Amino acid sequence: MRVVVVVIAVLVTLGLAAFGVVASQKAILSSLHAAPVARVAANDPGPAAVPTHPAVVRLADAAPTIDVSPAPAPGGRISDPPARLAQNNITASAVATAPPARAGAAAPPSTIAACDKPGGMGLSRIVQIDTTGGPGFGFEHFKQYDFLSDKEIVLTFDDGPWPNNTRAVLKALADNCLKATFFEIGEHASWHPELTKEVVEAGMTVGTHTWSHKDLARNPYASDIDLAKQEIEMGFSAVHRAAGAPIAPFFRFPDLQHPPELLAYLGERNIATFSTDIDSFDFRMHRPEQVIQSVMSKLEKRGKGIILMHDFQRATAEALPELLRQLKAAGYKVVHLVPRAPVTTLAKYDEMVMQQDKLSSNNTRPQGSVVHTIGEYVGSPPPASAHE
Ligand SMILES: [Zn+2]
Repeated sequence: MRVVVVVIAVLVTLGLAAFGVVASQKAILSSLHAAPVARVAANDPGPAAVPTHPAVVRLADAAPTIDVSPAPAPGGRISDPPARLAQNNITASAVATAPPARAGAAAPPSTIAACDKPGGMGLSRIVQIDTTGGPGFGFEHFKQYDFLSDKEIVLTFDDGPWPNNTRAVLKALADNCLKATFFEIGEHASWHPELTKEVVEAGMTVGTHTWSHKDLARNPYASDIDLAKQEIEMGFSAVHRAAGAPIAPFFRFPDLQHPPELLAYLGERNIATFSTDIDSFDFRMHRPEQVIQSVMSKLEKRGKGIILMHDFQRATAEALPELLRQLKAAGYKVVHLVPRAPVTTLAKYDEMVMQQDKLSSNNTRPQGSVVHTIGEYVGSPPPASAHE
């Protein structure tokens, strides 16, 4: 009997000791990992646990309300190590996704609401891009990050802002509750800063497309990397200045020419490069029907992708309402890209852009109050016989 009691006592002691070891290991582990675990806790709706600017939610994943935050607040979470959000990735660390909203959960503060415009298409997902290291997107040149599902599209517009056409594009998007990415030319933004501001205020993502739309694979840029960097950086500085607000570290090379040394530079600058999946070639077209036909037929072949168009082009601006209607009818779903953090411009190039602006700093009064017609040739008076 005594032997049995002793054996039981020994076993209990050993068991407690073993439990103690395991428990203390768990305590150490959880203290090491406490922060990241809390941050990515998938379905925790608490404000401390849900990233403030998550990115991706599929409409299909969720009940009527979907939790998606808008673009990150300037400087919001720059200090977060990328690995934390990467735990939620779909395919790659550069593309972050948010956890699906719980069915029946109370509506969280940020939501993709159903589109309230009659017949409006509405956004399907918001995808957040972590631009650390300068990832490239668009299968025409970069095949690593395949983050779109079948029938998902991203709308992108180059070469703006431009009078009339950019506003027409914004209106067509607003009429469908859609967001797109605009790759603006620095010079154009400095000529029409009010339009850049409108694009930003409409909730679009604004990236850049160089200062003056130069092919950086050609000379003098190909043989002078500093000149090429200046062309890129002045684009960011000018568009940032025109926007008066943070812009995205998103860049598209003119003519989709990607010199490797400049891709390396953008990597150091943590700026993402966007090529395309569907090049509309709308700049060669004069009629809206041609633009629609080009986009729809190419999409039919590829099934999804980043679509390159130009808000600079009148035919595209005119095509957009009907193009969006057809995209919706064909079951395509629009994905909006937002950056994880805004771009940081460089003081040297901010200064260069400011100098450019100073050249025209006296030109603040409207043309009608500066220039007046005070004499005009109206042609010879017609002969009396023809004057009926
Ligand atoms: Zn362009």
